[in-house]
Amino acid sequence: MGAPTLLERETHMADVRESSNPYENAIQQLDTVAAHIGLDPDIHEVLKYPQRELTVHFPVKLDNGSTRVYTGYRVQHNLSRGPAKGGIRYSPRTDIDEVRALAMWMTWKCAIVNIPFGGAKGGVLCDPRTLSPAESERLTRRYASEIDLLIGPNTDIPAPDMGTNAQTMAWIMDTYSMHHGHTYPAVVTGKPVAIGGSEGRVDATGRGVYIVAREASKRMGMDLKGATVAVQGFGNVGGVAARILHEHGAKIVAVCDAFGGLHNPDGLNIPELMECQRNDGTLTTHAGGDPIGAMELLELPVDILVPAALENQITAANARRIQAKLVVEGANGPTTPVADRILHDRGVVVMPDVLANAGGVIVSYFEWVQDLQSYFWAENEVNVRMEQMMLRAYQEVVAIADRDNIDMRTAAYVIGVQRVADATKLRGIYP
Ligand code: GLU
Repeated sequence: MGAPTLLERETHMADVRESSNPYENAIQQLDTVAAHIGLDPDIHEVLKYPQRELTVHFPVKLDNGSTRVYTGYRVQHNLSRGPAKGGIRYSPRTDIDEVRALAMWMTWKCAIVNIPFGGAKGGVLCDPRTLSPAESERLTRRYASEIDLLIGPNTDIPAPDMGTNAQTMAWIMDTYSMHHGHTYPAVVTGKPVAIGGSEGRVDATGRGVYIVAREASKRMGMDLKGATVAVQGFGNVGGVAARILHEHGAKIVAVCDAFGGLHNPDGLNIPELMECQRNDGTLTTHAGGDPIGAMELLELPVDILVPAALENQITAANARRIQAKLVVEGANGPTTPVADRILHDRGVVVMPDVLANAGGVIVSYFEWVQDLQSYFWAENEVNVRMEQMMLRAYQEVVAIADRDNIDMRTAAYVIGVQRVADATKLRGIYP
């Protein structure tokens, strides 16, 4: 790292230091906003900790007849504004601190877009790509049984995240329903539409990323039509965001998946890449561009960068080399607090995860409401209402950023943390 910049030296915010631990980073982000808004120290202390953490070790029979023990987590960070909400990830890298951070980010995300949920997250330490469908089903049903004591339509509502999908949610819904005597569609969101899922849920996170990219570009005087975009990740978030941005005239010059990436300064044919990924399981077999690495992709000279893969991608090590004018976070936690300061200092606008990828949980909220009422909406109605909620949150965040002359993440946290703090104060400390 070079000499500290003026902002780093003279900031009125809490100091930040580089860490690859997402929970430490989540606390640093909270500390920064707590200093900015003068948060009551007692409430600050409460908000630093997850309210509940469950670690489970459970056996799963593999197809070869052997048994393996897997470790899973479910963490509920805060329940002041409603039942806990948040995805479940299957990943060979997850651990309790990652799940704690992701749960805390869900608390802020739900508060920022003003839906009546607290934050939670779950994870199972496994490599989902090496599991057969039958193994995946057995693992999911056993994990669901283990966390049964926490989840429920009124207590904690899981959803898909990295490595999980609508089928995973169907198995969790079925397992929970078998245990509790009748069908409970509202226990999870992101289910298949045929069993109480919502129209529009699959595309919702990517659509929200597009909406935020469009609004932020407009504000920066940048035409989205023809704007160059690099997308790190080509799953349910990055792939859908790339497709919708492409449909609206943006030029997607680079994308990557877990196997590698493709770069073409003239623009990639996103529908073809999606077809290729469906057929080959990866986009890297497509001939439409030159190979590029996931980290190299971040440093391309583009207008808009969408990190939509993992945490800790933009760090103190590469933040000075990011050339994009606008970063729209599709992933949770892709930018470290030190990188945030560097980018802000360099005039790069970062639209934070807690706003930019909130489209998914907004439509999860709609799915939960539809399940509880057994009354289902048309896709257009879902999309229109989601866009209204995203735009309202976007405008509130921008207004705070302008008022206080702060970066968009801190502005989003001002709203989210304040709402959670207010709810905690109003309810009081039990007993
Ligand atoms: N896993 C998604 C997220 O990080 C969705 C959570 C949900 O819909 O509950 O926002």
